[in-house]
Amino acid sequence: MMKTIKMLSLTMFIVLFTACSKVSEGEADNDKLKIVATYSIIADMTENIVGEKAEVYSMVPIGTDPHMYDPLPKDTSKVSSADLVFYNGLNLETGKGWFQDLLDVTNKKDVAFAVSDETTPMYLTEKGKETQEDPHAWLDVQNAIKYVDIITKHVIEKDPENKDFYLNNQSEYVKKLNELDQYAKESVQKVPQEKRILVTSEGAFKYFSKAYGFESAFIWEINTDSQGTPEQMKNIINIIDENQVPALFLETSVNPKTMETISNETGVPIHSKIFTDSLAKKGEEGDTYIKMIRWNIDKVVEGLSS
Ligand SMILES: [Zn+2]
Repeated sequence: MMKTIKMLSLTMFIVLFTACSKVSEGEADNDKLKIVATYSIIADMTENIVGEKAEVYSMVPIGTDPHMYDPLPKDTSKVSSADLVFYNGLNLETGKGWFQDLLDVTNKKDVAFAVSDETTPMYLTEKGKETQEDPHAWLDVQNAIKYVDIITKHVIEKDPENKDFYLNNQSEYVKKLNELDQYAKESVQKVPQEKRILVTSEGAFKYFSKAYGFESAFIWEINTDSQGTPEQMKNIINIIDENQVPALFLETSVNPKTMETISNETGVPIHSKIFTDSLAKKGEEGDTYIKMIRWNIDKVVEGLSS
């Protein structure tokens, strides 16, 4: 009996506490729409649509891998109070089930949306993994436009009063994205056909390669794999040698050591850093989605045509 009373009073305390904290949060930020994005790229796309009308919180820190992440107490609290949660889906935020667990704990499944839902998935190629989706759809700019459409749709559903504002931002942003896509398609023409092989640590460039006419090669296929096993190293070194690949690329969100070893063993230089799963820090080159794709295209074209 005593135990039941204690449990009851604890529950009441939690209910009251939650109610109070909700009121004070609402007052503190003028009832702006609260949106959580799992990582910086989706956060940037969202900011382009909502401008000042919403507060966008990006969870996985810049330069960190969204495949695997340990949410902080702050993340849990942001998701708990979010009106919308945008995540990539397509097998991205799956390492140790971190994101699913977070949605379970916060009870926010109903307002969480996978922004990749309208894209056509590509699959891993490694034996035994052919049924697993490759998450990196955003590296094809046409897919990014589909992400933005989904983001806009859900933002309008939550805040219909500002519909015209959001639609206007969407149309301006999509125009820029189409220009970026065109720029990418034209730029790759400078690289001789036989040199269009993009070597990175993670096999993150399937969608990119298909969209812009490259072949992609990698040390490991997805960041949730073991990274840099002797067999993986042997395979990539063979590919580099056989194709006389002139330049290697290193993603900003992986440990650089393995690619550095490959570079030493093959004598092929790492031409540049490249962005896949994270933007650059604010104020640095590549700090928006548009800038990161532009950087990737420019560096890849430069490295492979020299
Ligand atoms: Zn990745």
